[in-house]
Amino acid sequence: AAQIWYEDDADLSVLNGKKVAIVGYGSQGHAHALNLRDSGVDVIVGLRPESKSVQFAKEQGLEVKSVADAAKEADIIMFLAPDQYQAKIYHDEVEPNMKPDTALAFAHGFNIHYGYIKPGPSHMVFMVAPKGPGHIVRREYAAGRGVPVVVAVEQDPRGDGWDITLAYAKALGALRAGAIKTTFTEETETDLFGEQDVLMGGVNHLVETGFEVLTEAGYQPEIAYFEVCHELKMLVDLMNEGGLNKARWSCSDTAQYGDFTSTVVDESTKDRMRHQLQRIQDGSFAKEFMDDQAAGAPHFKELQEKFSHEKIEEVGPKLRAMFSWNNGPAADKDEEESF
Ligand code: NDP
Ligand code: MG
Ligand code: MG
Repeated sequence: AAQIWYEDDADLSVLNGKKVAIVGYGSQGHAHALNLRDSGVDVIVGLRPESKSVQFAKEQGLEVKSVADAAKEADIIMFLAPDQYQAKIYHDEVEPNMKPDTALAFAHGFNIHYGYIKPGPSHMVFMVAPKGPGHIVRREYAAGRGVPVVVAVEQDPRGDGWDITLAYAKALGALRAGAIKTTFTEETETDLFGEQDVLMGGVNHLVETGFEVLTEAGYQPEIAYFEVCHELKMLVDLMNEGGLNKARWSCSDTAQYGDFTSTVVDESTKDRMRHQLQRIQDGSFAKEFMDDQAAGAPHFKELQEKFSHEKIEEVGPKLRAMFSWNNGPAADKDEEESF
């Protein structure tokens, strides 16, 4: 069985006298910085001086410095800039400035697992990876709850790696929910698989393809939107509460029979999932992504542009404005301005 730690399993005083630098102040960065600060940890935020995040962090009363200056002072450095920039930040600003025993922390194992960052043996290397978006990590903490995390220790030169990792997870509020032990390899490969094959690459394409099939067959786009997109959230909420069984239980017998007999996902889908997993395990997905990023991300930008014009997006904003929980069209904007 998986090893799981809770609130009483960690000692926050392990972080006494330690300075934690949070690099980046985006989705995860703001949540880690604010939760740790509110848990009594000495936090400093590392950002590019010209970043518009500087203002958001300062408004919250956080101390902000350049990444290089933050790295000089830090006992623990948590990397929360986008994965594709972390290696450059590490090589240019962190490595030349950090102390020999500074611990390096990550919320996703990508750069360590694929070797884009190779810390020397004197550095403790750990992971506290929230299993939820940063804005929820902050919202749950503020409500007295927490988002679960997975935790790992990759290098442990002084033997205090797990104490520090669990103390960090506790300060983040995560042990109120629970921390599951993993490894950098397992977290990286399963995280990429989940987002590529089910959560995003699976669901997003399923929704869009379902929408196209219905509208191409002559049904109204508004009706198609409800059937293949809007109701998804309610089923997922039930799935979150009680698994697939609860989601099925709440649906009609007609719906259940259609579910059980559907041929949309079959053995060939599973074969393609295994193929995707293979590309994650052998590093070819990571290389493709990072090579494109190194070239200025031409393919990534082309895909972002293409997918932002999917047919369902033509009708989506109008319909989403009908729902009270969305506050009208404002919900379609990103939340960055409202940290
Ligand atoms: P974001 O895209 O939200 O991070 C943006 C922040 O990083 C901004 O403050 C940005 O500032 C800063 N940044 C970008 N480039 C640099 C740089 N060169 N130097 C310093 N700061 C920089 O990242 P996420 O929060 O989405 O992801 C962070 C990490 O957390 C990743 O490892 C990700 O895999 C992991 N993770 C993310 C989850 C999520 O909820 N999004 C969930 C679980 C893990 P600027 O204005 O300068 O660009
Ligand atoms: Mg994930
Ligand atoms: Mg991910």
